[in-house]
Parts: sequence; structure tokens; C-alpha cells
Amino acid sequence: MAEVILKNIKKVYPHQEPAKKKKGSEEKKTNLQITDEGVLAVQEFSLNIADKEFIVLVGPSGCGKSTTLRMVAGLEEISGGELYIDGKLMNDVAPKDRDIAMVFQNYALYPHMTVRENMAFPLKLKKYPKEEIRKRVDQAAEVLGITEYLDRKPKALSGGQRQRVAIGRAIVREPKVLLMDEPLSNLDAKLRNQMRAEIIKLRQRIDTTFIYVTHDQTEAMTLGDRIVIMKDGVIQQIGTPQEVFDHPTNLFVAGFIGTPQMNFFDAELVKEDGRYAVVLENARVELSEAKQANLARKQVQPGPITLGVRPEHISLAGDASQAVRGTVDVAEMMGSAVHLHVDACGRDTIVILQTMDLQGAGHPIPATGSALPFTFGGNVAHVFDR
Ligand code: ADP
Repeated sequence: MAEVILKNIKKVYPHQEPAKKKKGSEEKKTNLQITDEGVLAVQEFSLNIADKEFIVLVGPSGCGKSTTLRMVAGLEEISGGELYIDGKLMNDVAPKDRDIAMVFQNYALYPHMTVRENMAFPLKLKKYPKEEIRKRVDQAAEVLGITEYLDRKPKALSGGQRQRVAIGRAIVREPKVLLMDEPLSNLDAKLRNQMRAEIIKLRQRIDTTFIYVTHDQTEAMTLGDRIVIMKDGVIQQIGTPQEVFDHPTNLFVAGFIGTPQMNFFDAELVKEDGRYAVVLENARVELSEAKQANLARKQVQPGPITLGVRPEHISLAGDASQAVRGTVDVAEMMGSAVHLHVDACGRDTIVILQTMDLQGAGHPIPATGSALPFTFGGNVAHVFDR
């Protein structure tokens, strides 16, 4: 059992003299709140993580992900709030007594030790019997597919293999909570995809709660049971990948989750006979029942709004007189889909059309310069305050 509870956690970094700032540490661009005490790097962070849950903290650089993770690890003091692991208050418990392990972006392996020695190290420190150490290292090596490298030194390994060793060293202790801070960021794209799948497999084989930090929304979406989206030290939304994709609570989340990015338009929300519709140029789209109910509950008033529509939710309109008028600037054929940059409403709008759907409708693949009247469904139109 390892439930992790963060209750109203806060981190304040004291103001620093410019000269005291860490050498080489680049200033991260954020709009963090500043108080008399210092910079509020994390505020009002509350989250209940279930036993064996895989939680991903995601957000742009400087939003407070690592700080949060480091507070759970005990590497950073907690300025306010409470941290519980397995029901025990951990705020003042030393890192080594928290029964957690952490994997870092830069692997942090000991270069003079073999892979086996690296992986055995935390168990040696805890004075495990030799036979037990051997057994656990062998098991972890097998899970991670690095048995054949056990006698090598880290420098004789590839980046992906080194990261496996770092993960191996973290899991031999069978920690209650495994913390991972951007573990795949130093790997190239292909290896990153491969390791992502490895982490999913690993997760199925070990009984551990995972807290994983990344700035990459794809990694967050594919790995997390739930993801926590952060900005400027503040949680923006917590939900399953599907929830945050389908129901982003604000413009930031809507723009951050999903690739290519959601399109945003200046549009109008209208209400007739008690029903909401959005109007964009000649397209008037009545919203779905779920969205009607949601807007009614929040008593949203008609008027100017920002309309969000994902590229894959835009469809060709048969009748141009009831559509948004666009012109194809660039058509990129990807095989199963065509990605279009469309000049519409005075902005670059991304449209993804499935080739099979086009063929089924007897529609040619849109060419550069051609007119593209389009519309969208009332269930995929996202309404945000302007
Ligand atoms: P992320 O992991 O999301 O990139 P961090 O948690 O590393 O963000 O940083 C959050 C904010 O706190 C940033 O503005 C960063 O500059 C600041 N920060 C991080 N570590 C320190 C520190 N030791 N002293 C002062 N400010 C820090």
C-alpha cells in the first residue's frame, strides 16, 4: 500500500541576490507569484494519489513540476501544507526514510562501477545479505532486459541502456513510490518512444506508485492514469488523459494538450429559445446536449467568446453558404491523413482530414490554393471566455 497525499502544498524559494544564483542555471520564463517571503514556485497543490496509480505532472518549463516531485522525495523542504505517504506525515522525514526511489534525467550512475555494482549500491547501503542483493539485481536486470550488460561500465552503454540501469537501481529496493524526473528527455525521439513503452510494461510488473514529471504532453497522455497539468506553480486541471483532452477546463489546458494544437477563433456565442449555438462566419453550430447543460449550469451569457476546435474535429462543409470559408495554404500528405494549413478567419487554421473519408465521399485531396469551406460538430466545439 502506498497512497500519497499532498494537501495544500506550497513552496517558496527565498529571493536571491542575482550574484547568488546558481551558475549556468538559466532563468525559466514564468509568471510566478512573488510575495515578501520569496517566489511562490508551487501553491495550493492538493492531490490524492491512489496506491499503484501512475500520476504524471506536466507543464511548461518552470511551472513547478520538479519542485513538487523533489518535495515528495524530501530533496526540497516543504514551505506549507502536508505530505502523507501511506498515511504517515512525511514533511520532516529524511529522504532515506521515505521508502521512495527517484530516477533522474541525467541517469546519475557511478562511472567507476559496473552495471551490477550500480544496481546493487542502494541495497549494499541498506546492508542487505549478498545473496538477496544478487537475486534482486538479477530480477530487475531481467525485467529491464539488461542482463547481458551487468558486467559493463556505464560508459560502454547507450543512453537508453544507461537509463534502464538507472531505473533498475531505483526498483531493486522495491520502493513504495517511484519518482521519475524527465527520465526520457536525454534520449532521441525513436528511443524515447521505445522507452515509453518499456515504462508501461515495467509499470505492469512492479507494485509501485509512480509520480512522473515531463514537459511533453504526449508522454503525459500515454503514460498517466491521471495527469496533473500545471502552469506558474498552480494546478490547472487533474484528470484522465481522455478527460483533459475532451473537456479542457481553460484555454491553457486546451492549447497545451493535443498535437497539433487546438485552433482558436474569435467567435460569438448566441442563445435562441434557450439553446446555445456558436457562430463563426457563416457557420452556426448548435452545441451538443452535454455542452448546453454545462453552459446553462454556469449561466454563461451570450456574447464574444474564444472558440476552440481541434484540427481532427474539423470537417468539410457541403454548403459553403453555411460554412467557414478557408483557402488551403499548404497541404501535407501523410498517407492515412492529410494535414492542411488553411487561411481562415484571418489566421492559420490546422485541419486534419482522413484520406479514407475523403475517398469515401468522392472528394479529391485538397490542393494548395483551393477553397476549403469547413464546419465542426456541436460536441467538439469548446467555448472559452474571451
Ligand atoms: P519545472 O520542473 O516545471 O521546470 P521547477 O520546479 O524546476 O520547474 O522550477 C519552478 C520555479 O522555481 C522556476 O521559476 C525556477 O526558476 C524556480 N526554482 C527552482 N529551483 C530553485 C532554487 N533552488 N532556488 C530558487 N528558485 C528556484
